[in-house]
Amino acid sequence: MSRLDDEPDVIEQARRLRLAGHGNPVQAIVGHCLDRIRRWVQSDGPVATIGQLEALVTRRLRMVFEEVESDEGLAALIRKYILLGEGVFAYLKHDLDGDTFGATYRRSTAAPDAPDRLVAIIDCRGDKGARRFFTRWHEVAHFLVEPDPEEVETPVHRASDSPLERLMDEIAAHAGFYEPIFGPAFDREMASRPRLTFQVVEAVRGQCFPDASFQATLFACHRRLMTPVVYVEAEERLKAEHERQIKGGVQWLFEEARPEAQLRAAQVVPNAAAQRAKLFIAPNMRIPSSSVIHRLFFDSLGSEDTGRENLNTWEHSGGKRLADQEVWVEAKKVKGRVVAIVQPVT
Ligand SMILES: [Zn+2]
Repeated sequence: MSRLDDEPDVIEQARRLRLAGHGNPVQAIVGHCLDRIRRWVQSDGPVATIGQLEALVTRRLRMVFEEVESDEGLAALIRKYILLGEGVFAYLKHDLDGDTFGATYRRSTAAPDAPDRLVAIIDCRGDKGARRFFTRWHEVAHFLVEPDPEEVETPVHRASDSPLERLMDEIAAHAGFYEPIFGPAFDREMASRPRLTFQVVEAVRGQCFPDASFQATLFACHRRLMTPVVYVEAEERLKAEHERQIKGGVQWLFEEARPEAQLRAAQVVPNAAAQRAKLFIAPNMRIPSSSVIHRLFFDSLGSEDTGRENLNTWEHSGGKRLADQEVWVEAKKVKGRVVAIVQPVT
C-alpha cells in the first residue's frame, strides 16, 4: 500500500463512491474512473488516439480547455469571460500563481448541459507548458471522480501536494496514458529490447502522446514495466540532518565546518516489480563519484549517458552499502538535475 492509501481524505473519497472494501482505496478510485471512461468509449467511441479520448471525455463532462501561453493571453482570457458575464474569472490572475498549473471554473451563464459549462484554464506560461498534457488530465480527474460534475465545488486547481491533489495526479496518470492506447505502443517498442530505455519512452511519446512530457511518459512506462526498475532523480543537496540544522537556524563558527551540498538521490521511485525484487536505493543517499549519474552531472558536456555499475559502490548512512547488484543505468540531464532509471543486469 502507498501512503496515499492511508490518507483520511482518500479513504473518505472511496467511501463516498461506495468503494470501501474494494481493496486499497487509490486503486479502487482509479479503477472507478477508468471504468467510467471505458463505458463512455463503448457508447461514444471508438477512439484511436489520446486526443480523441480527451475530446470524448471532455464532451461528456461538458468541459472545454483554455490554454494560456502568456500574461497578455491570460488578461485577454479573463476579459473574454468577464464580458460573457462570468465575474469569477477575475480571480484567475491570482489563482494561477507560482505552484498552480491549472484551474477549472463552472460558468454561471451557461446552462448545465452547455458543452462549455466547465472551463479548464491550463497554464502553459514558461516552464509550466511542459506539463500541459498532465494538467489537462488532472483537471479532468476532479470531475471524473464525482458521479455528477455539477456536484464538484469549483474552482478546482492543480496545485499543492495535498492528498486529494495527489490522488488526482494518480487518476490523471492512468487516464491520460489510457491503457488501450498506451499498452500496445509500449509493448511494440519493448518487444525487441531487453530493458526500458529512454528511446522507448521517446518512441511511445512520439507515436501516441506528443503533448505529454518526457517525464510523464517515463513514469507511465516505469509503471507498466513488468521487470524491476527504479527511477532516481539526483540533485545537489545537503544531508537531511544538515538541512534540518540550517532550517533550524544553526550557525557554523568556521566556514570549513559548514556542510557541503552533495549529489544525492533526491527522489527514488521503485516500480512494483522492483519492490517485489527488493531492488533498493535509499532516498537522499549520496551518489558515488564512480556512478554514471555523477559523471553526467559534473563532468559531461552531453545531456545523456548510460553505463553498467554495481550498486555495492553506493554507500549510504554509516558506511553501509547497497546490495551487490550489477545494474544498467540510463541517465539524462533535466533542468539542473539528472533523472535516471536503474535496472538489474541479469
Ligand atoms: Zn487539483
